[in-house]
Amino acid sequence: MSLKDVLDAAPPKPMSVHRCRLPLLLLGAVWALLMPVLAQALEVVVKPGTVSVLAQQGVELLFEEADEKLTPNQVMAPEMASRWKPHDRSRINMPSSGKPVWARFDVRLDGPLDRDWLLAIEWVQIETIDLHQYDPATRQWVGLQEAGITRPHKLRSIKDPATGLPIAFDRAHKLTLLVRVQARGQLILPMRVWDAQHWQARRYDFAMGYGLLLGILGVMFFYNLSLYIFTREPSFRTYCGYLFSVIGYQLCVTGYGALYLWGHDNWLNRYGYPLFATASFFAATVFFRRFLDLAHEARHLNRMNQAFIVLWGVVLVTAFINVPILTGVLLALGMFLSGIAGIYTAAYLMWRGNVLARYILVAWSAIIFGTYITTFGMMGLIPSNDWVNAAQPIGFIVETVLLSIALAARIKRDRLLKLAAERESRELMHKVQVEREEKIRAQEHALNVQLKANEELELRVIDRTAELKRAMENIELANRELAKLSVTDALTKVHNRRYFDETMKKEYDRSSRSGSPLALLLVDIDYFKKINDTVGHLGGDECLKLVAAALTMCVGRSTDLVARYGGEEFAVVLPGVDAAHAMDVAERIRKAVEDIQFIYRGRRVPVSVSLGVVARVADTSRPLSEFIREADQALYGAKGAGRNCAMLAEAA
Ligand code: GH3
Ligand code: MG
Ligand code: MG
Repeated sequence: MSLKDVLDAAPPKPMSVHRCRLPLLLLGAVWALLMPVLAQALEVVVKPGTVSVLAQQGVELLFEEADEKLTPNQVMAPEMASRWKPHDRSRINMPSSGKPVWARFDVRLDGPLDRDWLLAIEWVQIETIDLHQYDPATRQWVGLQEAGITRPHKLRSIKDPATGLPIAFDRAHKLTLLVRVQARGQLILPMRVWDAQHWQARRYDFAMGYGLLLGILGVMFFYNLSLYIFTREPSFRTYCGYLFSVIGYQLCVTGYGALYLWGHDNWLNRYGYPLFATASFFAATVFFRRFLDLAHEARHLNRMNQAFIVLWGVVLVTAFINVPILTGVLLALGMFLSGIAGIYTAAYLMWRGNVLARYILVAWSAIIFGTYITTFGMMGLIPSNDWVNAAQPIGFIVETVLLSIALAARIKRDRLLKLAAERESRELMHKVQVEREEKIRAQEHALNVQLKANEELELRVIDRTAELKRAMENIELANRELAKLSVTDALTKVHNRRYFDETMKKEYDRSSRSGSPLALLLVDIDYFKKINDTVGHLGGDECLKLVAAALTMCVGRSTDLVARYGGEEFAVVLPGVDAAHAMDVAERIRKAVEDIQFIYRGRRVPVSVSLGVVARVADTSRPLSEFIREADQALYGAKGAGRNCAMLAEAA
């Protein structure tokens, strides 16, 4: 893991030397005094019952210069003795220049030669390993074993992704091991002398554990891939990217990828480890963003997440363009900060009530603490054992399973939210529908009210119109009555003098125009004074009525006119009637009046009339008054002739 790379890569750097020279000089003096004590050349002692012994502090190291191409004999030569330096720290874990490094230490067997022993180097990211065994007794190099991730596995006597190289003790039970290694980025050289049986038994357990881990990761990958294909939910895609990177990282870090998948001569053996580690963090950062919806949850978390995405993008680029030291430093720094930031983000959102953040908090804590524990173990900061080594893989299993559960929980939450939204929209639609119906009902009601009002108004108008019509008819009737009254004599009910004057004038003009004759009869009751004296004025009035009725009965044409001329005198106008016919009518009148049965106090009072008749075609050169006077003179003639007779005016 890269954190351990870089945390280990932070031994005192010469940077600070210029700044504080005095303390450093003092420190240097103490260091020089302690050096011989701390850094003694190592002799590993194994005996019956020994399982394994770590060979780290005190191992002598020699750094080969460029193009030196040293051989075992050369490095072991006395003139090289000054270049060998005992390693002074508990773990060999340092930045590598990429140049070969030689390591040597002695091994002594304190017991019989009845067991097999081997040298194990369980860090896979070493490109080449050459193991030389020097037999001090015979002063000979015993066999050369080649290993390292870029070498074919078939060169090794034990099939395992980790390096396990058998060692052979001489008769004196002593042996000097000389190891030449070449590594990029970080030189981690965890050498351990093992009882071969124990080592292999342990490696079987490891194989089982890694198989389990890769199996779980692989199943989760394909499971989430299928979920992504079916749901198209971007979180699944990101999670698959994360799982893919973690699987790649595990295949690199355990060596199983080189052993079973891509072989020893693949570029992944050189670049895969930092690349997949960086990609894992990059994918995890994006996953945090998507899954926890940071863009909408909290601004500062969103900003922080964006910064990490940029950082991991940069590290990814350095891993690609092959800047191993820079990648290592950035990876360690990023991992440290990302770990804390991730835990903070999840904890903050959990505190804010985000249920999904719970899963993320536990999952992320598991992988981060697992990684810290394993890394600290490798660095020697805490005692190392198999559980410490397994902390990171266990963290991965916990994380993977929890994140998968979290994704399911999120889908459930989203579905519930969707259902709630659907229900809400249905209710809203129903409400709108009800309101619309109510509005329509209100409108209908308003319309009905208006229609009813209109109907009532119409009926009232009809009533009023009828009333008006009736009133108008009454007025017209009254007017007609009035008109009739204005031309009628009140006592006798024949036309009055005014009407006679108008009609007489019209008929006189018409006669003159048409040339047809016009007859006028003036009728005067004989001795009416006497009648009045006999029957009284009221009786006289009754007599006048009877005479008027008799006159009316004697004229038949619609154009004929009977009018009261004044007092007890009447006038009869007969248009189109000549003298002979006029005299006939006069005689008829005289007879009719004579026949009136005017009874007063049981006695018949005789009534008669005298008539003056004029009948000729009117001549407008002579005035109407002359025409009337002619009739009047004829009437006087009739009076003079003894009354109760008619006389025709002389033609002038
Ligand atoms: P004669 O014509 O035959 O010569 O005789 P007389 O008695 O009819 O004569 P005169 O024409 O002079 O008299 C008319 C009288 O008629 C006078 C008046 O008292 C009466 N008289 C006129 N108008 C009315 C009326 O409206 N009612 C009544 N009862 N008498 C009237
Ligand atoms: Mg008279
Ligand atoms: Mg008279």
